[in-house]
Amino acid sequence: RAKADGRGTFRFFEEGMNRAVHARLQLEQELRRGIAQGEFVLHYQPQHDLATKEIRSYEALLRWQHPRHGLVGPDTFITVAEETGLIEPLGRWVMQQACRDAARWLPPLKVSVNLSPAQFRSGDIVAMVAEALEAADLEPDRLELEITESLLLNHTETTLSTLSRLKAMGVRIAMDDFGTGYSSLAYLWQFPFDKLKIDRSFIGNLNVDRNVDAIVAAIIGLGHSLGMTVTAEGVEVEEQAKFLESHACHEIQGFLYGTPAPYAGLLAGPRPDPKRGLDPHEARH
Ligand code: C2E
Ligand code: MG
Ligand code: MG
Ligand code: MG
Repeated sequence: RAKADGRGTFRFFEEGMNRAVHARLQLEQELRRGIAQGEFVLHYQPQHDLATKEIRSYEALLRWQHPRHGLVGPDTFITVAEETGLIEPLGRWVMQQACRDAARWLPPLKVSVNLSPAQFRSGDIVAMVAEALEAADLEPDRLELEITESLLLNHTETTLSTLSRLKAMGVRIAMDDFGTGYSSLAYLWQFPFDKLKIDRSFIGNLNVDRNVDAIVAAIIGLGHSLGMTVTAEGVEVEEQAKFLESHACHEIQGFLYGTPAPYAGLLAGPRPDPKRGLDPHEARH
C-alpha cells in the first residue's frame, strides 16, 4: 500500500507509529489492570560474599505474572510504568513486599530494592520508604536501595539531599550498573555510596578483553579506596569469579551462584541463612 513516493513512505511510517502508540496504550491499560488485580511478584537473587560464600543480600526483581503472557520481566513494562506514573503505586508495592519478606529472614541478611529516577520525582520517597520499614518492622540497615547513575544526571541538588535523608535513616545506598552512565566518577565524591555494583556488560567480557580486565580491576581498587563494598553483577562462569576473587572484589551476583527465584522457592530450597555457606551447585536452578 505504501507508494514509492514521499507521501507513501510517510503514511507507512505513520501507520507504524499508530501501531506503536496503540501498543503502548494497551500496555498502560494492562498495567493498571494488573496492579489492581495484584498480578505482580518479586523474585530474589542472592549476592554472595566472594571470600566466605555467605549470602549478604537478596535483590528483589519485579515480575508480572500475566494471565495470558505468563511471567513477564521488568524490561518490557518498567519504562511504560515510569512514563505513565504507574511506577508510583507499583514501586510502593515492591518496597512494602520486599520489606515484609526480608523481615522474616535472619539478620544481618539484607534486601536490595531497585528505584527508578521517576520514583524520586513523584511524591515523597523518603516517607514511602519509612512507612514500608515501619509497617514491616524491618531495621533500616537491612534495606539497601539500588539507584542508577541516570538518577544523578538531572535534579542533582534535590536528589542528593533525598539520598542523604535516606542514608541518615540508616538505609544503605548502592550505585547499580556502575560504569554504564555518563559521568559515574563525578558522583562518587558527591555522595557516599555504600556499594558499587559493576555492570554486567563488563563482567561478561572478563578474561576476553584485556582492557575490560584492567577497568574492572581499577573499579574494584576504587571501591576499596573509597571504603565502598564492590559487587560484580552478571557472574556466569567460574573464571569470572576467579578473576574477581583474585582482585578482592567483595561480592558477586549472577547465574553462577543463583538465578532470581520466587520467595516461596527460597524457603523450600536453600534457606536465606547468612551464617551458612551456600553450595553454588545447590543454588543453581
Ligand atoms: P538490575 O537492577 O541491574 O538487575 C539485574 C538484572 O540482571 C536482572 O534482570 C537479573 O535477572 C539479571 N541477571 C542477574 N544475574 C545475571 C547473569 O548472570 N547473567 C545475565 N545475563 N543476567 C543476569 P531483570 O530481573 O530482568 O531486571 C532488569 C532491570 O529491571 C533491573 O536491572 C532493574 O534496573 C529493573 N528492575 C527490576 N525490578 C525492579 C523494581 O522493582 N523497580 C524498579 N524501578 N526497577 C526494577
Ligand atoms: Mg539492581
Ligand atoms: Mg544492575
Ligand atoms: Mg539495570
